[in-house]
Amino acid sequence: MSGYALRTTHHAPDDPFAEIHPPLTHDAAIAESNRCLYCYDAPCTIACPTHIDVPAFIKKIMTGNLSGSARVILDANPMGHSCARACPVDVLCEGACVMNARDEKPINIALLQRHATDFALEKDLKLFAPGAETGRTVAIVGSGPAGLSCAQYLRRWGHAVTIFEARPYAGGLNTYGIAEYKLRPGTALAEAKMVLDLGVTLKTGVTIGKDIAFDQLLRDFDAVFVAIGLGAARSLGIPGEDLPGVVDALTFIETLKLRRSETHVGHHVVVIGAGNTAIDAVTQAKRLGAESSTIVYRKGEADMPCYAYEYELAKKDGCAFRFHATPIEIVERPGGPADGRTVAALRVHTPAGEEIIHCDMIIKAVGQVARNDFAIPKGNPRVFLGGDCANGGAEIVNAAAEGKAASAEIHALLSRAS
Ligand code: SF4
Repeated sequence: MSGYALRTTHHAPDDPFAEIHPPLTHDAAIAESNRCLYCYDAPCTIACPTHIDVPAFIKKIMTGNLSGSARVILDANPMGHSCARACPVDVLCEGACVMNARDEKPINIALLQRHATDFALEKDLKLFAPGAETGRTVAIVGSGPAGLSCAQYLRRWGHAVTIFEARPYAGGLNTYGIAEYKLRPGTALAEAKMVLDLGVTLKTGVTIGKDIAFDQLLRDFDAVFVAIGLGAARSLGIPGEDLPGVVDALTFIETLKLRRSETHVGHHVVVIGAGNTAIDAVTQAKRLGAESSTIVYRKGEADMPCYAYEYELAKKDGCAFRFHATPIEIVERPGGPADGRTVAALRVHTPAGEEIIHCDMIIKAVGQVARNDFAIPKGNPRVFLGGDCANGGAEIVNAAAEGKAASAEIHALLSRAS
């Protein structure tokens, strides 16, 4: 983890990548927690895939018990820190808050959750302890939110857990792939550390299927949880795609997060795709100084897969949108590269005919294909799956919920077998 301060807040006003939602002050957190009605059968809790007891953690903030509050959150969702920053709360807990029906602002659950979990992170609180050792062993492939969530519960039950991670750092997309103004690598790594500190063995730089055969895991461990996420960026299948001025969105975001000084951005950037990753890319390109940063999408505004609030954020940042424009060719700069730029334009098909969109950088954000590092045996009762590799790509909170569900199944298996 060297090179990354375990800093959880960053909100310098002149930083284009400052967090979009600065943390609450102590007084603001108390005032906001006082607005909560502490509903019975709270709809906010029901709406959360990990079913965090929202009124319980908010009440603990109100009474000044921040570590108790963090414990409620992280007991239900070990990824409670990153979810507080990157969850689509408008369509989950805050969208379900009863205040909406009263035409009042919903309780700011995300910032309250952050208030409590930041406290735990900054104080490095040991909120949970490993269980008495059972002698049973579990391999987890992938240290993203699903793998870490599963590991937290398994360690609390006393099972020995080894996580195999192909990348140099733990955290998966939390560390490498979420826009900088939402979640910083230092926060993702600190959150991972809280889980690892329970006595999890982390082996980084190890790719299962390449460095170690999957079958070897089945021989060495009592159960295996596969949470490897998704693989390479999906191809556009159009000429010019391999030009150096064309990058995929996750690579662009990763370089910006981990090696900002090496991040190149064009003067006129086109992002192909309209999901939440496309929005992350188009806004980051604009914040990096692109004169224009434009989403090009083959369908209409109403068909965009991104969340409405993400769309609003990009518009607020001055990003442009071209709908009903299907990319057909990436046009190379005539006469070769100039100023390091090789792309001249994107040719698109529109209902009005073909058009040329001039640009000098293209970011592909049309999804990822499945990983094929190894064949996952079907129907093996000792093999479990969760996270993006199982759900096709969803939110951190879904991965956390799936890791939690898998841990319960694995624990049941290991308890039966012992
Ligand atoms: Fe509080 Fe809103 Fe949840 Fe009710 S629904 S407990 S008011 S956050």
